[in-house]
Amino acid sequence: MKAAVLRGKRDIRVETVPDPKVEPGSVVIKVRACGICGTDLHAYRLGDKVGLIMGHEFSGDVTEVGAGVADIKKGDRVVAVGFRPCGECYWCKQGLTARCTNMKLAGEHFAGAMAEYVLVPNAGLNRTVFKITDAVSYEQGATVEPVSVGSFSVRRSKIAPEDAAVVIGAGIIGLGIVQVLKAVGVKKVIVAGRRASRLKAAKISGADMVIDAAKEDTVAAILNATNGLGADVVYECAGQQTTYDQALQIARGGGKVILVALYEQPITWKPITATNKNLTMIGILGGHFTSTLEYMNAGKVNTKPLISHTFSLDKAPEAFRTQADAPDAIKVMLKM
Ligand SMILES: [Zn+2]
Ligand SMILES: [Zn+2]
Repeated sequence: MKAAVLRGKRDIRVETVPDPKVEPGSVVIKVRACGICGTDLHAYRLGDKVGLIMGHEFSGDVTEVGAGVADIKKGDRVVAVGFRPCGECYWCKQGLTARCTNMKLAGEHFAGAMAEYVLVPNAGLNRTVFKITDAVSYEQGATVEPVSVGSFSVRRSKIAPEDAAVVIGAGIIGLGIVQVLKAVGVKKVIVAGRRASRLKAAKISGADMVIDAAKEDTVAAILNATNGLGADVVYECAGQQTTYDQALQIARGGGKVILVALYEQPITWKPITATNKNLTMIGILGGHFTSTLEYMNAGKVNTKPLISHTFSLDKAPEAFRTQADAPDAIKVMLKM
């Protein structure tokens, strides 16, 4: 089969590799769409996963079902998780595999889904494999994983409909949060971002107000929009020193700051800022697939406007360059 393999720094090649073979407990999926994620880009920039097939945000059709797998049939349209818990740590032994401290990820530790076929081990319906209805396209299905991070963030924030929410950073994760916030009925959602195409996508996603952080004073604009009180919940999805500082400034006294971004660099901060305001800080790692699929199946979340570019698998090198460099890129998708 054909697959997009990392061969070095900014060097993706489409190569012919052996097809995956079905194993007991696993399924093989004919991949139909696979998105490029920040983790893929990270490996692409560093060139540190040489020889590995990239990609973990995917959808497709089940083509083979291994012995012992119930409820999943050949021909099912599905999305599947790209991570594998270790099965041996404290959390795995208690059955809480989502909290595994030694989680492995497709395209980072083992063969990913930027290929014609992918093997999903430990296949279980509504556990690692989820069906999508005909209302959800393969491309949308491939965005379930990034949006699931938003869904998990919103759940953990326990936001109420009358709360004012601010999302800092209008990439796919921030935009997914905006859509989930609107899906659960939050009335006031403000987005701060720096790229015109993303701010436009934020509006289409239901944001009540957008702030161009490249031109406007984000803190002043948000305080102004919240009667000087600040936001009840701030979702920090940008991962910079500036945006972290802003998040603490714009959260109201007693408010919550949800740390969604994966900070690539260390930052400095004064804990007293959070103490003085009685802030609750919540870190996010993981996603909530079932609620995301419910919103998508019901049409409450529609990620079509967030898919900025689509390429065939053969064009994987160009797709990676686009996701890494194009200012108007939001989610770049490969279609097989
Ligand atoms: Zn991802
Ligand atoms: Zn584990």
